[in-house]
Amino acid sequence: MSQFGPDYVRAIAPYQAGKPIAEVAREFGLDEAAIVKLASNENPFGIPQSSIAAMQAAAADLGRYPDANGFDLKAALATRYDVPAAWITLGNGSNDILEIAAHAFVSAGQAVVYSQYSFAVYALATQGVGARAIVVPAVAYGHDLDAMAAAIDADTRLVFIANPNNPTGTFIPAAQIAAFLAKVPAHVIVVLDEAYNEFLQPDDQFESAAWVRSYPNLVVSRTFSKAYGLAGLRVGFAIAQPALTDLMNRIRQPFNVNTMAQAAAIAALNDTAFLEQGALNNAAGYRQFVEAFDELGLEYVPSHGNFVLVRVGDDADAGARVNLALLKQGVIVRPVGNYGLPQWLRISIGLPQENAIFLAALKAALA
Ligand SMILES: *Cc1c(COP(=O)(O)O)cnc(C)c1O
Repeated sequence: MSQFGPDYVRAIAPYQAGKPIAEVAREFGLDEAAIVKLASNENPFGIPQSSIAAMQAAAADLGRYPDANGFDLKAALATRYDVPAAWITLGNGSNDILEIAAHAFVSAGQAVVYSQYSFAVYALATQGVGARAIVVPAVAYGHDLDAMAAAIDADTRLVFIANPNNPTGTFIPAAQIAAFLAKVPAHVIVVLDEAYNEFLQPDDQFESAAWVRSYPNLVVSRTFSKAYGLAGLRVGFAIAQPALTDLMNRIRQPFNVNTMAQAAAIAALNDTAFLEQGALNNAAGYRQFVEAFDELGLEYVPSHGNFVLVRVGDDADAGARVNLALLKQGVIVRPVGNYGLPQWLRISIGLPQENAIFLAALKAALA
C-alpha cells in the first residue's frame, strides 16, 4: 500500500463499471456484433436521433469553451420542471451531482446516511470527503426510511436516497418520502436521487421537483443517462433552492457539461416520442423477464427501474459463476457481489431480442 494520500482515500474500493463490449470480445474470443450488453442500465435504443442532429449542429462551435452556466439547457429544464433556472445545477452525469453535494455540504469527520444495497457512488462520495458512512440495513432490499431518520446523528449533514433504487429496483411512494422529509432536521440535506424516475408507472409518479419549494434542505437529482439515452455524454442535474444551489455551483467545475452534451440534452428533453418508446419497451421487457424468472423458479426483486435483480443460486459463488457462464455466451450483465449480493445478478432491460438471448443463455447457464 502506498504512503501517498489520506487514509480515507486509500480505503476507497474503486467503482466497478460494467464490462465494455470490446473487452468481453477480446477476453472470450467472441464477435463484438454478437455480444448483448445488459449491464449498465443504458437505453437499449441508444442515443435519440434528435440528439445526434443537435450535436452535429453544435460541433461547429467546439473551438470555444462550453457555456459555463448552461443557459439554454437550464432554461429548458426550468420550463419542464416549473422551477427558476437559478435552482438548477448541471452535472457531468448525476454522479457528478452526488460528488458535488458531498463536497459542498460535508466535511471530513462528519457523517452521511444511506441505505444498505443503495447506489455504490454514495459510499465513494462519502469516503472521498473523509466523512463517516452510516449505512442503514435495508428492509426487503429497499430503504428503511424510519431507521434512516433514526440513524441521523449529531455529525450527520447529508442523506442519500435512491428512488427507484439501483441495484435493487425498489421504490418508495411519495407519502413515505414526505413523512421522512418532515422528520429530518433542517440542517441535514437530503439528496433524492431519481435516476430512474422516467420509468415509473404514471400512478407512482410524483412532483418531487415541486417539493423543493417546500423543503430548503432537499436536492432532487436527475440524469440524462438512462431514459434519455445519453449515458456516454455525461449529463445530469440537480434542483434545489438557491442557498444549496449556490454552494454546489462553487464546487462544480465551471465547464463540467460540454457543448455537445448540453445540445444533446435539450433535444432529448423535448423528444417525447423517444421517451414513450422507451417506456413501452421497458414495460414489455420487464414482463418478459419476470415471466421467465417465474418459470425458472428464480426469486427476483420487483423493479421500478429499467433493470431487474434476480437470485441465480443459493451459494456465495452463484452470481460470479452464472455471470461467467453468461459472458462465455456473449451476454454481459452486472454481478453485484460488491453490493453484498453475491447470489444475485442485475440485468438491464434490453430490446425484446436481446432479452430473449439473455434468457436463453441464462437457462443454459443454470442447466
Ligand atoms: C445510473 C445512476 C446514476 C447516475 O448516472 P449518471 O450517468 O452519472 O447520471 C445515479 N444514481 C443512480 C441510482 C443510478 O443508477
